Amino acid sequence: MAQQVLIDKDGTPCPWCLQVMDREDPKRMPTKDHLHPRSRARHVRNSHRTLVVCSECNFLKADMTLREYVVSLDAKNKALEQFIQLNKERIENIAYLLKIGIEE
Ligand SMILES: [Zn+2]
Repeated sequence: MAQQVLIDKDGTPCPWCLQVMDREDPKRMPTKDHLHPRSRARHVRNSHRTLVVCSECNFLKADMTLREYVVSLDAKNKALEQFIQLNKERIENIAYLLKIGIEE
């Protein structure tokens, strides 16, 4: 029965990353995520609730709650935005140095 749920989700988008789930692809395989991690489920109502998500999203969420996962993803976005901004400045600075002939 539980396996049938996973088979039925094959070919549908993962609700988190929207990539199509594919049982033949190790990263996109449909998996059951326990919305509240089983390892931390004591004293939590409805801790048995699951959602079918791709294996990569399930792996990245690990034992975080959904709220912790969102905070984690947001922190990663901020770090990436800072990295992109720094790289833009590097590119502009190097382009300027190349423009004034510093390389030759
Ligand atoms: Zn996903």
